[in-house]
Amino acid sequence: AGGLLQGKRGLIMGLANDKSIAWGIAQACAAQGAELAFSYNGEALLKRVQPLAESIGASVFYDCDVGDEATLDGLFAHLKEVWGSLDFVVHAIGFSDKNELRGRYVDTSRANFSMTMDISVFSFTAVCQRAAAIMGPGGSLLTLTYYGAEKVMPHYNVMGVAKAALEASVMYLAEDLGKDGIRVNAISAGPIKTLAASGIGDFRYIMKWNELNSPLRRNVTQEEVGKAALYLLSDLGSGTTGENLHVDAGYHVVGMKAVDAPDI
Ligand code: NAD
Repeated sequence: AGGLLQGKRGLIMGLANDKSIAWGIAQACAAQGAELAFSYNGEALLKRVQPLAESIGASVFYDCDVGDEATLDGLFAHLKEVWGSLDFVVHAIGFSDKNELRGRYVDTSRANFSMTMDISVFSFTAVCQRAAAIMGPGGSLLTLTYYGAEKVMPHYNVMGVAKAALEASVMYLAEDLGKDGIRVNAISAGPIKTLAASGIGDFRYIMKWNELNSPLRRNVTQEEVGKAALYLLSDLGSGTTGENLHVDAGYHVVGMKAVDAPDI
């Protein structure tokens, strides 16, 4: 135990189930003393989210579709009402039509391109606008990204383009909000088996490839993303903003297949 986030209040967005990256981060934050609120997307998820959140002492829940300005406004008005202010936000949300997370990027439709950018990119900016308004100096905003933003990864397609835009928006948000003492960062997580990941074509192959070829010769866990998030969300990260912290067993430094990796 410890108290890195003792006395701090944080919003966790994107908890779907106990496999979610948001869950790894939430557990780490709760263990360090944070008071947490959860937003979830649609009534159907509440029955999963509520028991998980309550198991770590959270009592604030809000149904929020980040594609809807009114529910976003409602979420932050609610937080202002119950808490007054906010210390950190975790944005662990992404979405695209899974029919376009296979095959060729060049075949992406205009409609899915716009939707993917709206839900997976703009939503973080929309969250930052509202969160910053109820945050003081020391506030911290965090989103989740993937290496498919930096290099071409099989099937990642439009989501890779969206993550590149998300990573660029982290830099611009860091500049704008830095003047108020608010930090904005991303974690680039290695592949983890979650609901969202199951929509990506050949995801098992991608996980296996990362396991065999990353410097640590394994995949990362939700818990490890949670530990890295603690650094960015707490005072430990007070000098860090605009950063994209890779929590990927080192895969992002690799240039080619490891000599000891078997064919798969
Ligand atoms: P997940 O399915 O557990 O979480 C995705 C969440 O996004 C769900 O809770 C879902 O309800 C939410 N969501 C989707 N559309 C929404 C909307 N319109 N409004 C509000 N919420 C919405 O999967 P995850 O892998 O934990 O994903 C969390 C984040 O981590 C995503 O941004 C994802 O791209 C990123 N990420 C995942 C991996 C991986 O391998 N799993 C790797 C790197 C980055």
